[in-house]
Amino acid sequence: MAIIEINRLKKSFGQNEVLKSITFSVEKNEVVAVIGPSGSGKSTMLRSLVHLEKIDGGSIAIDGEYLAKDGHYPKAKDIRTITAKTGMVFQHFNLFPHLTVQENLEMAPRLVKKQEKQALRQKSSELLQKVGLSDKAEAMPNSLSGGQKQRVAIARALMMNPELLLFDEPTSALDPELTGEVLKVMKDLAREDMTMIVVTHEMAFAREVADRVVFMADGEIVEAGTPEEIFDNPQHERTKAFLSKNY
Ligand code: ADP
Ligand code: MG
Repeated sequence: MAIIEINRLKKSFGQNEVLKSITFSVEKNEVVAVIGPSGSGKSTMLRSLVHLEKIDGGSIAIDGEYLAKDGHYPKAKDIRTITAKTGMVFQHFNLFPHLTVQENLEMAPRLVKKQEKQALRQKSSELLQKVGLSDKAEAMPNSLSGGQKQRVAIARALMMNPELLLFDEPTSALDPELTGEVLKVMKDLAREDMTMIVVTHEMAFAREVADRVVFMADGEIVEAGTPEEIFDNPQHERTKAFLSKNY
């Protein structure tokens, strides 16, 4: 079953049409890597899926419910219910600087789900262990390395029990020696059948982990296929040109 269905999605900023009728879907348990040059609309597409951007036309359905249908949105309460199924991890972590690591994890579920303090503490401790940061529970974000911050951000996203995780260039802001620890956590999630869309420049990761690779350029999906199809046998000139520079 498709957990996300995007149909003829359009988005402009002023006169600049950044998404030109995007159609694609993601199946449950699938890992989709989205690659493509800077400015091609990758972030705008991900942000649309969690309603950080409002689309102008087309539809987005998540788990069978419309976040937007023919460019129209439901009531704010329904939008929140639908977007709550999706977690997002950003390039620049977006941690709350004045909260400890563990408080960062507990903040959103405390507000939204009104869970028991003790249950939240147990869950946040488990997730910190999962990302290898049990010893950093009381640390402030600014005392962490970039790789550690990103692992906190992933654990924080998991606190909401997402059906789907979106990653927007999660390792692009990291020193090269710190990308591995973040990619490892993402690989573990993929192995546990988490459904993920990952915008990335890490071609080796895309090849190894993704079930499907989507190449975007100029607001369009140029081609999509298995990692072997895209990396070993790209069909379009734009894909070939991009890969020859980046892979
Ligand atoms: P990518 O993530 O592939 O680099 P983006 O989705 O960030 O691409 O950007 C696609 C295009 O949309 C770019 O031309 C960018 O300048 C423009 N854009 C993105 N966000 C905004 C915004 N908030 N206001 C105006 N233009 C934007
Ligand atoms: Mg981007």
